[in-house]
Amino acid sequence: MSHLATPVQMSRVFTHLLVKRIWWLSLLLAIWGCQGPLQKVEIEHAAMGTRFRIVAYHRNPQQVERAARLAMGTIDRIENICSDWKSDSEIRQLCRTAPSDYPVKASEELIEVLSRAIEISRVSGGAFDPTVGTLVRLWRRCQQAGRLPRLDELQRARQTIGIDGIVIDSDARTVQLLREGIAIDLGGIAKGYAVDAALKVMEAQGIKHILVDGGGDISLGFPPPDQEGWRLELQPAGVGNDTDSDRVIRVVIGSRGAVATSGDASRFVEIEGKRYSHILDPATGLGVPGPHAVTVHAADGTTADALATAISVLDEKEAGKLLDRFPGSSALLFDPVGGPPRVLGVFPGYPNH
Ligand code: AMP
Ligand code: MG
Repeated sequence: MSHLATPVQMSRVFTHLLVKRIWWLSLLLAIWGCQGPLQKVEIEHAAMGTRFRIVAYHRNPQQVERAARLAMGTIDRIENICSDWKSDSEIRQLCRTAPSDYPVKASEELIEVLSRAIEISRVSGGAFDPTVGTLVRLWRRCQQAGRLPRLDELQRARQTIGIDGIVIDSDARTVQLLREGIAIDLGGIAKGYAVDAALKVMEAQGIKHILVDGGGDISLGFPPPDQEGWRLELQPAGVGNDTDSDRVIRVVIGSRGAVATSGDASRFVEIEGKRYSHILDPATGLGVPGPHAVTVHAADGTTADALATAISVLDEKEAGKLLDRFPGSSALLFDPVGGPPRVLGVFPGYPNH
């Protein structure tokens, strides 16, 4: 009997060795993936009329890219739910059912963001009001015409406003809109909700050191490795002297949390010599007098975004009371003519409080 291997046996041995090698190589790559140097990865994505940016530190950039693709997909999904600009968004479709005798099925995200909007509307005494949509549209029309809304126009728009026109059943996942012409505008909260959702997706994919920025609405995961916190530059453009670099406020935020800025810097109108914001005071139906800017720090982006919009409408005392309802939250109120901001609460990493 010959001890020489047949060609078939040789080929089997060769295949076995090859598989073994590939297995070892994969194992080495996996170990390297877990122990290699941490790398900073930055990914951008256009959505909701702004640029979203994800910054993450991880040993495996491909894993970050995969996770970021999922996170950006979630942001797009939230835009398709919440957008006031897309006529086929879920919220626009829902508003077309008003007034409705029956509850309408809604996505989990819409129920969640709408519930948060209603909660913040209640505690802010209506300064934040997601049913302000008809007034917003009237304001935009008048802005284009360069005039203030007439009294009769304001009165008509006001009839569509009020959170008592929305009935949510979270268990059944339905919304019923009772008031004719109600227009829900989630523009003051949706970006904060989107950065929170993107952060959650990234964390679920095993990425911990993350920042998600939706054009000033920022949700923070754990800080960059070996650093005490995320270094943020807050620049209230349009307030005071824009060219003054001293007006840039640098903060280091160590804990997880979120920051949101509301202001009229890029979105204001001048009518009869007065400057007005795109944020409306629901009590008057007019834009908040500008210039104004506020940055809020809160536990999550949804809260920070809505509070920043609400505080734009409120005076300092009312703003302080509102922040008291959200333990750990704080705000920087920028001075229209320059100088350091006033601080409500303890703003993390801000040296001058
Ligand atoms: P933000 O930039 O987050 O302050 O959101 C501003 C957007 O919120 C506006 O463009 C409107 O779509 C919407 N909005 C305006 N005024 C209010 C208000 N008082 N409450 C809730 N949303 C508002
Ligand atoms: Mg907001």
